[in-house]
Amino acid sequence: AKAEGRDAIRFFDPSMQEAAARRSEIEADLRQAIELEQFELYYQPKVNRDGSLNGYEALLRWHHPVKGMIPPLEFIPVAEETGLIVPIGQWVFMQACHTIKQWQQDSSKQQLILAINISARQFRQKSFVAEFIKGYMEFGFPAHLLELELTESLLMDDVSATVGKMKELNQAGFLFALDDFGTGFSSLSYLKNLPLNCLKIDQSFVHDMLEDPEDAAIVETIITLAKTLKLKVIAEGVETQEQAIALRELGCDLMQGYYFGKPAPLPLA
Ligand code: C2E
Ligand code: CA
Ligand code: CA
Ligand code: CA
Repeated sequence: AKAEGRDAIRFFDPSMQEAAARRSEIEADLRQAIELEQFELYYQPKVNRDGSLNGYEALLRWHHPVKGMIPPLEFIPVAEETGLIVPIGQWVFMQACHTIKQWQQDSSKQQLILAINISARQFRQKSFVAEFIKGYMEFGFPAHLLELELTESLLMDDVSATVGKMKELNQAGFLFALDDFGTGFSSLSYLKNLPLNCLKIDQSFVHDMLEDPEDAAIVETIITLAKTLKLKVIAEGVETQEQAIALRELGCDLMQGYYFGKPAPLPLA
């Protein structure tokens, strides 16, 4: 029996238990994070080909009172699983609307577009479109100033319901970007049926495009595809001037990445 016990211990992986414990801690703390005002939006610039500012992407930050800053990649999956992403997403949306409203008061910022990330669980809510439009109506800025970033996997979730929702929002004036493009495994044929404004080339391809000919080919192909479909194309994760120059030569419309600016809190320069 003793030998068996020792064998059993070999299959016990403490790192898995630690991860699970951390998840349930995060879940408990997430439940209060909105009330306790622990979230903040950071803003990362998106620039046009000529280097001028096009707008920003809002990125969520969680300042945990004890654990410090918890990165989105750690808490958003937990928020998705527990459904807490729905109220968190509503909070992000309201904050973003407030920011756009504020920009409307400043002639140098009136044209700026602000993009928010929408998670699948959030978009899948039956009431998503109605609540989104209702919330937006209270602010009264041009709808095209608020862009929604959706991922490929979200689109594949339930194609017909998703297309319907996107069309409704698009008719109300909102624009869509397809985030992390190139990392999903979906068919390309749906692209022409969706009311998309922009393809967002995933940063993994941009990261290695100057060293890895395969990544370069993928970047080039996505840019060509976007042009053919009359969509805008943005590269994310641009970290060097060399990448920026190469992307501009390939015809990329917009760029975003540490080279142009890291995500930063308000007030922005
Ligand atoms: P994402 O939407 O693909 O956002 C881009 C991520 O890349 C951000 O990480 C950003 O800070 C980071 N990044 C930007 N430029 C560079 C660069 O030049 N180099 C490198 N290495 N990284 C760069 P972040 O802020 O940690 O967000 C991670 C992910 O969390 C986001 O990926 C998005 O999927 C999710 N997320 C963030 N905010 C929200 C939100 O409000 N709602 C939802 N549903 N998801 C969010
Ligand atoms: Ca994004
Ligand atoms: Ca992305
Ligand atoms: Ca690679």
